[in-house]
Amino acid sequence: MESVLAPAILCLGPDGLETARRIRAGCPDAAIRGLAGPVEDAEIRHDSIESALRDLYRRDVPIIALCAAATVIRALGPLLGDGLEEPPVLAVAEDGSAVVPLLGLRRGAVALSRIVGAALGTVPAFTSPDEEEVKCRPAEPRRRGRLAVIGLGPGASGLMAPDVREELRRARHIIGYETYVRMAGPFRPDQIIHASDNRVEMDRARHAFVLAAGGEDVVVVSSGDPGIFAMASAVLEALHLSDEPSWHSDVDLVILPGISAAQAAAAKAGAPLGHDFCTISLSDNLKPWPVILDRLDHAATADLVLALYNPISVARPWQLGEALDLLRRYRAAATPVVLGRDVGRPGERITVVTLGSLSPDMVDMRTVVIVGSSTTRSFPRAGGGAWVYTPRWYGQSPE
Ligand code: SAH
Repeated sequence: MESVLAPAILCLGPDGLETARRIRAGCPDAAIRGLAGPVEDAEIRHDSIESALRDLYRRDVPIIALCAAATVIRALGPLLGDGLEEPPVLAVAEDGSAVVPLLGLRRGAVALSRIVGAALGTVPAFTSPDEEEVKCRPAEPRRRGRLAVIGLGPGASGLMAPDVREELRRARHIIGYETYVRMAGPFRPDQIIHASDNRVEMDRARHAFVLAAGGEDVVVVSSGDPGIFAMASAVLEALHLSDEPSWHSDVDLVILPGISAAQAAAAKAGAPLGHDFCTISLSDNLKPWPVILDRLDHAATADLVLALYNPISVARPWQLGEALDLLRRYRAAATPVVLGRDVGRPGERITVVTLGSLSPDMVDMRTVVIVGSSTTRSFPRAGGGAWVYTPRWYGQSPE
């Protein structure tokens, strides 16, 4: 069983602090720990390196020790068992020039060494001859890394593009929001999952580049399409803002599209996006609410079909109601609205209502809302429910 705890980066002196920070760029969960005296900036402090090492080891915390291997061996020697229970323990040179996995090779030390090595631009010194890693990754000139930003589609495996599936197969590291990473699985034991729940997108993007610039194959996972309210923009912004030359020159960056929620929901309901439409996220986390209202106003004035993403959440309970009030000023109460919830996932629900009857409590954050234009129509389907479509023409029907 791999150790599941976040690693501790132990600094013996101030010289290691810079290296500790570089390691953390590739390992954002790790806490930096130091000695009370010399490492004033460390987040958690200990009085002696030996007692810190022993304490972490006993608590099964993976250890990245920025000190001599001998210091670690002397501290932990008396505690060592049969090798099955020990957490990963790495000795790393203070200047970041060497990474030596010492213990816990059967519980994640190999993967952790690779991550630390990638962050420091160093090939780990694997010393165990039966370690599969040694055979498949000899210390040779660094290979180019690959960073693929992929869209999984809405969820159903049949809606995932074959190229995306191939990227998932070849990737060593999988980075993304936990729910989407789970959707992308199952993974092989040699694949390293970096699932996060609340980490900001730019941190995830930079983490991906650190790994890829170290020669690793990395995928960054988004649901739907990665370019629609998702990770591709953050990855490109991280690259654009970075002054790290290797991110530009040593990484093959590709962005692979996926079927977006609005497309998947539209197809289930018929063809509501058959004429001009726009997508608007109702989330005011990253843009001001007045901007959203202004865009809704323009889209409504222009008689576009609207696909509303991020329509509502516990933290944003009132915005959808206000948006609907605005749309009702321009659109008839009979305008068809498609609610696609968990499209392509277990429990999928497609509901067709009218703008007049729509209330925010019919919608949650797993729903995409498609509001028709003045030409969007609906008619009953055999077997129940309704078809919704927007004709190709506008103004006068060619028929
Ligand atoms: N990149 C994604 C969108 C991410 S924004 C895409 O292209 O689909 C997250 C919002 O997308 C959710 O709040 C919801 O409005 C919508 N969404 C994503 N997946 C969905 C699904 N399977 N069913 C319904 N809505 C979904």
